[in-house]
Amino acid sequence: MADGSMTVGNVEISHLYDLVADFPLTLDQLFPTVTAEAWEPYRRDYPELFGPGNAWRYHAGCYLIRSEGQTILVDTGVGPSSLGLAAWIGTGGELPDRLRAAGVPPEEVQSVVFTHLHPDHVGWNLQQNGGAPRPTFPRARYLAHRADWETFHRPEVQQAMEGVAPAYVPQTLTPLETLGVLDLADGERSLTSEVTALHTPGHTPGSMSLLITSGSERAIIVGDAIAHPAQVEHPDWGFAFDFDGETAIQARGQLLDRIEAEGLILTACHFPEPGFGRVVRLEGRRLWQAL
Ligand SMILES: [Zn+2]
Repeated sequence: MADGSMTVGNVEISHLYDLVADFPLTLDQLFPTVTAEAWEPYRRDYPELFGPGNAWRYHAGCYLIRSEGQTILVDTGVGPSSLGLAAWIGTGGELPDRLRAAGVPPEEVQSVVFTHLHPDHVGWNLQQNGGAPRPTFPRARYLAHRADWETFHRPEVQQAMEGVAPAYVPQTLTPLETLGVLDLADGERSLTSEVTALHTPGHTPGSMSLLITSGSERAIIVGDAIAHPAQVEHPDWGFAFDFDGETAIQARGQLLDRIEAEGLILTACHFPEPGFGRVVRLEGRRLWQAL
């Protein structure tokens, strides 16, 4: 896997992969309304996203943004192999090593922003080495949307995730509040004059997208609002991890219409390397095309 970087005006964005692995659930389990034949064109368009048979080659992407002297990390991946989710997937991530390879020690990160609070986006939040947890990024504030913070602290929501990521909320989320490093957004939140977290609910109630505007250039990081680039052509392909299927489909359609109308560069956490592309019309299809 190759990490990709690009500049948007004066902003530098790197897409850092915590891990790439064949996901424990198959495509027909993840996208239950989609037939095997319907995947065929995307096997050709995005071969990096398909494993043997019916496997989803899962990419756990995070982003590093540098804007106006600020170093912002977007999402923290699956996390170390000691977490339940990593055990379920069969491997732990390597985000801290990727950051170091990009010349970024953990102390340099000033903000951690969550596109949403699913377990594969929060894994490296804390270090658990024996004793009490401490923030992996010791100088950072961590920003989540309040709607996700409240949703994923509901006992029945945690119960529903137990088979996939047992105890991830008390291990990776709750201590952020007790350690005093958590900020909650209620709507839009500007991180710099070039980077804004937008509330784009759908995949989860508190999903956020990062809009980057610098000079005449613009890009958007949509988290898992678009989980697979095939959904650019088919926003109605429901994803099993969408919190509320109907709302997610509607939100995905609206987001894509805006991205296309405004010509935004589009990237999403589970897109293949290097991760940045545009929405184009090609032979009657609306496609995500890598830059
Ligand atoms: Zn995800």
